Parts: sequence; structure tokens; C-alpha cells
Amino acid sequence: ANIAALPDIRRLDERTVNRIAAGEVVERPASAVKELVENSIDAGAGRIDVVLEDGGRTLIQVTDDGCGMVREQLPLAVERHATSKLKNGDLVHIEALGFRGEALASIGAVARMNVTSRAQGSDAAWSIRVEGGQVDAPAPAALGAGTCIDVRDLFYATPARLKFMKTARTEYAQATDVLRRLAMAHPDTAFTLSDGRRVTFRAEPVANLVGNARLERLAAILGREFRDNALEILAEREGLRLEGFAGLPTYSRGNAQHQYLFVNGRPVKDRLLAGAVRGAYQDYLARDRHPVLALFLEVPADFVDVNVHPAKAEVRFRDAGLVRGLIVSALRHALAEAGHRAATTVAG
Ligand code: ADP
Ligand code: MG
Repeated sequence: ANIAALPDIRRLDERTVNRIAAGEVVERPASAVKELVENSIDAGAGRIDVVLEDGGRTLIQVTDDGCGMVREQLPLAVERHATSKLKNGDLVHIEALGFRGEALASIGAVARMNVTSRAQGSDAAWSIRVEGGQVDAPAPAALGAGTCIDVRDLFYATPARLKFMKTARTEYAQATDVLRRLAMAHPDTAFTLSDGRRVTFRAEPVANLVGNARLERLAAILGREFRDNALEILAEREGLRLEGFAGLPTYSRGNAQHQYLFVNGRPVKDRLLAGAVRGAYQDYLARDRHPVLALFLEVPADFVDVNVHPAKAEVRFRDAGLVRGLIVSALRHALAEAGHRAATTVAG
């Protein structure tokens, strides 16, 4: 064969690799918000404030009061495949929300990003700037303890992706949904979301004195009416634990958008779980009606693979049947009991 006529096989340079990968991790402003807020949660923040201008298309800013970073850590934080969260390459026992070390590098590859941070106990803040994958040296900055990341002009470096961004209103709504889900899973953390003029979403930390912190946080996000129409769900089977609150059939909605599912504290959108919910309610609801619920499933680390999807929205279970069975039976049990209570109240 004529080797000279064959096409060259070349390694992609790092900036190109990052821009390609960024497309998987950061699909839209809401996915950048998710990554940044998850980092703040992983950093142990007690309060997280998010500002989005133009639906996040021109500015996404996330400020937290978490552990912060020292100067030497900043270049690593924005480097691809660098993380403080994966211990000894153990992909099984993942406790943090992050672990892939891709988010900051990906965002920095397609936007203009500034990471400013001051480590707890340190008196100096430092800032590092990344623009289209180009990383500057850290510079002195001013900030209280914690981290503030701002991302401007998302996707300016990838014009094809830029064109796929929806209206500011749609992007803002998506980001709000992301924040609501994370706030449900973290009742001790304060969250705000602002559009630069006013706060549009706020979740105050639920005091420990309150009987059920989780229900209080859900009520704050989903409304008092949800609380008055929700059944408590609590079930355990073979090391799996399910808890949460599920709306009565009479409190149903016309779409399935109001189902909030979590696995080990991680918001997920999983077909298996959604299917189990549908199965449980099928005798109680017309086909075009959907329950409102928030379910938190806790499983052993080696029972679930959270590494299936770059954005970590989908998970894979070792025994899907067991998960489905637990959810269906816990929901059906609660629904049957509620029905029984209602019947005896009427009769009595
Ligand atoms: P991952 O979260 O998977 O580790 P990221 O790219 O999201 O990857 O973040 C890289 C690293 O930067 C994290 O492992 C963490 O050490 C640091 N970091 C990112 N955001 C914050 C933050 N808000 N507070 C403190 N450290 C942070
Ligand atoms: Mg992360």
C-alpha cells in the first residue's frame, strides 16, 4: 500500500480535547450551574448564592463559604482530570458529588472563567483566570473565606454550541430546577438564586429544632399544599433505604416534571425509578395524571454506578429489580393505608 496516501493519525491538542469534552459535561448554563453548586456543596458550604444574568448566557456566578482553596491549588483545580475527591482511584466509594475533575476545566475551555478563593484559616485570597482554555497565573484578590466563580460568555469559544442555547427565560427556568433539586437534598444549606436584580429562589437552612428537616425544606420549595397532601415514605430492604414524601393521588399534576428522585443524595433522572413510580400509582391515577413526590434512596456504594453519564444524571443499579420492588411496594403500601384511613374517616 502507499503509506504516503494514507491520512495522518494525530493526537488532538489539549485545548481541543477540552473543548470536545466540555460539550458532554456542560450542555447549557444549567449544567454549569449544577457543576459549580455541587462543588460548593462538596466544599462544605453553609450558604451558596447564585447569580445568573441573561439566563446564565452572559454571566453565571456562584459564591460559597466552603473550605476554599490556597494559591497552589488553583491551577490544579482548573486542570482536566485533577480532583481532590477521588481517594486512591477508588471509583466505588464516592462520597462527594464530583469526582471526575472535569467541570472547571470544561467550563474554562468554552467560556471566560474567574475562580477566586480564600481557604478557611488563610488571610489571602487568590484568583485564577481561564479564557477559552488559556490559563493565567494566579493573582492576588479580595474575598471572604470561600470561593467565588464567575463564568462569562459561556460557549463563546464553541460557536456551534452557542447557537443551541435557548432563550434566557428557558435557561433560567432550567437552572432554577437544578437548584431546587440540590436544595431538596441539602436542607442544612442556604441557597439563593438571583437574576442580578432580585432573588427569585431562596431556601433558608432548616433549623435542627424542626421535627423533620427534610419535610420542612420540601414544603419551602414545593409549597405548603404539598406538605398537607403528602404521605411519608419509609422503607428498608436488603441494605437499601427509601425515604421521602409522596403526594396523594388527589394532588396530582398533568405532567411528570414534579418528581424529584435522589440516589445517595444525588439528584437523578432515571428511567427505572420513574417507571417504578408510574407502576405504583397506576391503580390510583388516570394515565395523564402524575404524582408530585420527592424520594431519597440510599444504597451501599458498591450497589450503584454513578459513573455512567458525564453529567452524572443517570445511574446504574446492581439489582434493578430490587430497587423497583422497594419503591413500588413502599408507595403502594402508603397509598393503600391512606385510602383505608380516608374510608374509615368517612364511615366513622
Ligand atoms: P471534581 O468536582 O470532579 O473534583 P471539578 O473540576 O468540578 O472536579 O473541580 C476540581 C477541583 O477544584 C475539586 O476537586 C476541588 O478540589 C476544587 N474546587 C472546585 N470548586 C470548589 C469550591 N467551590 N470550593 C473549594 N474547592 C473547589
Ligand atoms: Mg465538580
